[in-house]
Amino acid sequence: MGHRAIYNGVLRFTNVRVPRAHIVGGEGRGLKVALTTLNAGRLSIPASSLGVAKRALRIAREWSGTRIQWGVPIGQHAAVAEKVRRIAAHTFAMEAMLLATSRIVDRDKHADIRLEAALCKLWGTEKAWACLDDLMQIRGGRGYETVESLRARGEQPYPVERMMRDARVTTIFEGSSEILRLFIMREALDPHLKVAGIALNSERPWRERLASAARAAGFYAWWYPRQWLPLGGGAPADMHPRLAAHFGAVAGLSRRLARTLFHQMVKFGPRLEKQQVLLARFADISADLFAIAAACAYAQKLLGEGEDAAKLCTVVDDFAAQARLRIRQNFDGIAHNADAHGYALTQQVVAGEHAWIERGIL
Ligand SMILES: Cc1cc2nc3c(=O)[nH]c(=O)nc-3n(C[C@H](O)[C@H](O)[C@H](O)COP(=O)(O)OP(=O)(O)OC[C@H]3O[C@@H](n4cnc5c(N)ncnc54)[C@H](O)[C@@H]3O)c2cc1C
Repeated sequence: MGHRAIYNGVLRFTNVRVPRAHIVGGEGRGLKVALTTLNAGRLSIPASSLGVAKRALRIAREWSGTRIQWGVPIGQHAAVAEKVRRIAAHTFAMEAMLLATSRIVDRDKHADIRLEAALCKLWGTEKAWACLDDLMQIRGGRGYETVESLRARGEQPYPVERMMRDARVTTIFEGSSEILRLFIMREALDPHLKVAGIALNSERPWRERLASAARAAGFYAWWYPRQWLPLGGGAPADMHPRLAAHFGAVAGLSRRLARTLFHQMVKFGPRLEKQQVLLARFADISADLFAIAAACAYAQKLLGEGEDAAKLCTVVDDFAAQARLRIRQNFDGIAHNADAHGYALTQQVVAGEHAWIERGIL
């Protein structure tokens, strides 16, 4: 479909002999080596997504400023302006997340960035795709045309359809979005499962469960009240007040996220791991919170380099407003949803019980 400049093939290792001197990382440690390389991919792929988003922003800016419809440039029509706004904000935040994570590795190349890299990959690739979807719409019919077709008609040959074909795979390889959300949530649940996993597991003997519940009660007696108190996580003292306000909001929302996850753990017990749609909302809230915090930190750094405060704060304010709206919708979705009904229906669809909907195709 895309990426035609790289060769793709399936590798098979049948009766392959590897000389002992060629073993990387020691015998039996191959999976660890393979998993470690994922961090590099999970940063380089969102880095390429950032390039895509920047190119999308430039095309969107040029086209929405020059294409005239109904007597004005299309960028002045609110429905188009909204799309340009999204591309601009996402591009800025994408760069911020990537730089925040890369800086951790620059400081310490052994730093554990699995979670941050997964968030960059998940958020960056999905938002780059959303940027391209918006760009395709902004370009109208010309977006759908190939470069060759545009060039032949004497049109500006923006390669939007090619960008889309190339970008689509980024949410699939190097950890699909679905797998990344599960990974992120496993990391979030892990400390809780270590503390209360046995207590919540109805298949374990009562005696073990009671002992585990007593230990968990001790832990949650101090952990849970802290999620209601405005302690820690505030902005650095020298941060611009407009950025600091967003930073403070992230701290509060993070605590709300932590206690909401705890409530769902109590509700579902070990079955929570299977609630993939519910958990995806938590993962998406975490990614948006990381994006807001990174955007503030990046803007603060640019301020220090002499960038205009009003310009920077306008972009961060707008990005934070968009992200806060998504976060609110995801919290609403955690509290009220039709996940169980939808899942039950899907099992019927997959079993063919609703094949009647497909009637009419050959
Ligand atoms: C252009 C290209 C280049 C590639 N390059 C490489 C490479 O260099 N090296 C390499 O090793 N691989 C490579 N791949 C393979 C790629 O990593 C896999 O396609 C990818 O990991 C998804 O696996 P799959 O195709 O088997 O999909 P599947 O695992 O069959 O997944 C199908 C769908 O089900 C979802 N899914 C699967 N399991 C779960 C689960 N437990 N819970 C929820 N959802 C789930 C997936 O997210 C996906 O949406 C490449 C693929 C492409 C297209």
